[in-house]
Amino acid sequence: MAKIITLLFLFLSFASASYVEELKWPKGETFLTFLVKNNLPQSIYYTLDKEEQELAAEIVAGVKYQVLKSEDNQLEQVLIPIGEELQMHIKKKDDKFIMEITPIMLQNEKHVLAIEIHNSPYVDILSATNNYILANEFAQSFKGEVNLRNLQKGDKLVLVYQQKRRLGRQFGSMKIDVSMIETAKKKNYIFYYKENYYDIKGQELTSFLLSNPVNYTRISSPFTQNRWHPILQKYRAHLGIDYAASVGTPVKAAGNGKVLFVGEKGGYGNTIEINHDSSFKTLYGHLNGFAKGLRGGQGVKQGQVIGYVGNTGLSSGPHLHFGLYRSNVAINPASVVKIAKSALGGNELKAFIDYTMGLRKKVDNALETETPPFREELFNLSYPLEKSQS
Ligand SMILES: [Zn+2]
Repeated sequence: MAKIITLLFLFLSFASASYVEELKWPKGETFLTFLVKNNLPQSIYYTLDKEEQELAAEIVAGVKYQVLKSEDNQLEQVLIPIGEELQMHIKKKDDKFIMEITPIMLQNEKHVLAIEIHNSPYVDILSATNNYILANEFAQSFKGEVNLRNLQKGDKLVLVYQQKRRLGRQFGSMKIDVSMIETAKKKNYIFYYKENYYDIKGQELTSFLLSNPVNYTRISSPFTQNRWHPILQKYRAHLGIDYAASVGTPVKAAGNGKVLFVGEKGGYGNTIEINHDSSFKTLYGHLNGFAKGLRGGQGVKQGQVIGYVGNTGLSSGPHLHFGLYRSNVAINPASVVKIAKSALGGNELKAFIDYTMGLRKKVDNALETETPPFREELFNLSYPLEKSQS
């Protein structure tokens, strides 16, 4: 079923002649300008199909990508992550450069952090782990649950979380399975369950709700991080939801925020990006046009018309491509677009309680064993690009 691609590179056998550079994708760089800068044929871009060109517009500024160069400084291969599970792989095939989308090799690590609070949870998490993404995720999830300002020195904090690594480095979004703060002899828990945060009773805690950005006729393409297309024999991702609607249908801001971008964005055509609530961003693609006078930096209100459905960029029919990013990582908008918070009930609640019992045990163990503060090691790149998967 899942086709597994072997990425065992030739250079491993000629390793002495080649070297790997790790670089940060610059702001404003597009896939096309990248090709031009590196003397790679532009045909790589123009022969991509429309879904691949959309994905090429998903390269995030600041993402770390790897370049393999020959001894005489000629570029041989490139690996650029797209979303959380796939990457663009530029390589030579029969003396021609091609681009192939392949799965990212990820290691998943599980961690438990147990510390006493000295400053604030945020600062203490940071000084114990040096991990900003973790500290931010904690702050995001615990917002409003416990008055974090009223904590006393010596109150306890336990986090059970998962960390993905790509090539030895922290990669992608962070999921904190459980956060627990013990203060005034009371344990306060927050659980991550099915893409949302819940309290111990199964009440959803999401503080950030998005409304539907458009009146649509149907969802023409759902969100997917990684899917093998058996007919095309290609890996695919669709980092947003496509809402089919007729040209000219008003597109509304899904939440309050500030306009980050208005203009053309590769395969997405006319695009608007809006920043919300410190770590969330929404993207509206393939627009026919923008609301009059809309410009970057402008504040918008939830439900405000910002543009109109169109068919611009690479689009096979009028629709809105709606993307949602959390700390710059694409997530499924369906998990956040809703009218109200939900509470689990019935069998789902039972399953949730079972699941959280295991995590609560882990938290208790961590409190008893007084785990020394966990410090994240700084990894070095010790091997070039990806090795193979069988
Ligand atoms: Zn789309």
